[in-house]
Amino acid sequence: MQFHERVLLENQAWVESMLSRDPDHFERLQSGQSPEAFWIGCSDSRVPAEQLCNASPGDLFVHRNVANLVATEDPTFLSALEYAISVLGVRYIIVCGHEGCGGVGAACSGESTGLAYVDAHLKPVVAHYERVKNELSKAPDEANRVNDMVRRHVAAQADHLADLDLVRNAEQPPLVVGLVYSLDRGALEPICERTQAAVA
Ligand SMILES: [Zn+2]
Repeated sequence: MQFHERVLLENQAWVESMLSRDPDHFERLQSGQSPEAFWIGCSDSRVPAEQLCNASPGDLFVHRNVANLVATEDPTFLSALEYAISVLGVRYIIVCGHEGCGGVGAACSGESTGLAYVDAHLKPVVAHYERVKNELSKAPDEANRVNDMVRRHVAAQADHLADLDLVRNAEQPPLVVGLVYSLDRGALEPICERTQAAVA
């Protein structure tokens, strides 16, 4: 069986399972969405936003890209952010990084990935790494160094986000929260919170 054929079968099983637990589930969601949070995460297949916070359809508005960047040059990111704030009125924005992030690791390597679009996307992470690499070098091995950078990167993205006009000028500015997901334990670790008062 091919992957897409399995997807259709798994979808049927999922629909049945959802309806057995909550017969009105799909009918209720048809009327619209009002998620509490906008989630900015990494595209990594091991870090699925909804599953790792035990969320249901309708709970999270999601944007994912390589290395969970607040990618202000990217219209797909900005349009999702704009919609989340201006239309959905989310109360929280979560930036979630993860240990062992390949994108952050590549930025720390000092070498090109050989992929033009990936290199272009990771430029801000490379620039951040260059600024802090002397502090990171105290970490005992490469994996720890990358994970240290993952945490600094999440905090930097939260700072960047909280300082954007779209966020600052929101009618009710959302609370920006930085988290890091541990691949080996499945646990989320709080990294930072940014409010407008703290940014101003
Ligand atoms: Zn990643």
